[in-house]
Amino acid sequence: MAQQQSAGKPVILLNIDSLMPYALEQVAQTGRAPALQFLMENGMYFPDMVSSFPTMSVTIDSTLLTGTYPDQHQIPGLHWFDINKKQFVNYGTGFRETFRIGMRRSIHNMLYRLNHEHLSKNVTTIYEDLAHKNTSSASINSFVYRGNHPQRLKTPKLLSALTHFEDGEWIAETPTEFSLGAFSKFRSKGVPTQVAAGNYKYTAKELRHLIKTNKLPQFTFCIFQDMDTRLHFKGPTYMKMILKIDNEIQKILNMYPSWKEALYQNIWMVIGDNGHSATGTRRRKHAIDLRKIFKRYRIARLQKSVTEKDQLVLCVNQRMAFIYLLDKKASLDSLVALLKKDKRIDVIAWKRDGAIHVVSGIKEGTVSFRPNGPVTDIYDQTWYISGNLDILDLHVTNHQFLTFGNYPDALARLYGALHSHSGTYLVVNAKPGYEFKAQATPAHLSGAAHGSLHRQESLVPLLVAGTNKKPAHRRFTDMKNYILNLC
Ligand SMILES: [Zn+2]
Repeated sequence: MAQQQSAGKPVILLNIDSLMPYALEQVAQTGRAPALQFLMENGMYFPDMVSSFPTMSVTIDSTLLTGTYPDQHQIPGLHWFDINKKQFVNYGTGFRETFRIGMRRSIHNMLYRLNHEHLSKNVTTIYEDLAHKNTSSASINSFVYRGNHPQRLKTPKLLSALTHFEDGEWIAETPTEFSLGAFSKFRSKGVPTQVAAGNYKYTAKELRHLIKTNKLPQFTFCIFQDMDTRLHFKGPTYMKMILKIDNEIQKILNMYPSWKEALYQNIWMVIGDNGHSATGTRRRKHAIDLRKIFKRYRIARLQKSVTEKDQLVLCVNQRMAFIYLLDKKASLDSLVALLKKDKRIDVIAWKRDGAIHVVSGIKEGTVSFRPNGPVTDIYDQTWYISGNLDILDLHVTNHQFLTFGNYPDALARLYGALHSHSGTYLVVNAKPGYEFKAQATPAHLSGAAHGSLHRQESLVPLLVAGTNKKPAHRRFTDMKNYILNLC
């Protein structure tokens, strides 16, 4: 019965960045966040949805919207190296780093190239799939937005000199309804206080406008991008911002005759994007300087063109890094040997001869794997695995059934990262408490950081109210089909 009732109701997916299960449970069960409490008590709660990897926003949003890991959607991280163009790609990992690469290039990368050049044409977004069914959709405040509705976007005057477009205007392919800070808005009189991203009040107002004017489409994706920066400074236990966002969700629910009625009319979902791992206080100890580890190599500089002499490229995504080997005479093995000596590094992975190999700075041996073998994991993926399973905290039963411990969906997620773009590179993860450092990397000492494969950053909460249907698996890759089946 319930399933029939829910068919065709508009789906509203609220993405609260850095929302973590513990924090959500605390504020909901103590009555401090009435809207989230209501959705939790009148719906379903999943505390352990597996995010993408690296646990960085653009990679995660691309996974959520395409239902694929980066091996297919091809957004490798917030910071990566395009080996064909010999170019750093940075969608904006922090002001210092962005500034070095050039603000102009970052804005262009974030707003245009991410959606129209980098996000693979071989995958489709929820918006594109819905458009094929003649079903409308909305995106509010998301940097990943590709749809197939051409829309003219205009860069605010202040920034137009920083884009590559004439007069700061360009045609983007967006969902039917599209709001992104000052670039595109629903309310002609709305004034975003930030160019894009932050500002939960503005974001909620845009959503309320869709509801008020009866323009709510079959699917709406709405991101609150306000918590992340605060958590980086204040650490993973900071909760105040959730209460402010909850207040905005209350105002949204108050637009209906009753909150129960809001559930009869729509399906409501609230999801996080990544967790945070608390970081230590001492720069020398807790920031792993990759330039020191590789001091005998010549490392490409951010602001300069990569030259023939450069041997390595370092792209840090907080607690995860891509390490590219440019020097054909050097070997990955010698890089691995140097990293393995560092007890602050827990997962070092690379691909060779069709398999992925993983070693660790804290555990002995190697574990190797490749797809399509006799072992079946909890997500129905199959693998050949050999070596020390302890390195990735894998558990295989006598019946060849695989479960994951500290590194959720570790095999598919490492596979995804190591097939996300061309080049010879390593994927490395810092142990909880530590983060990587290279040239001009933003630091998060005495706060929190993310990026790695660890469960602290990988498991995020999902609330669903207004339907009894569940996703096939508790993973971000399963959200797209789940939503399409509801729409
Ligand atoms: Zn962050």
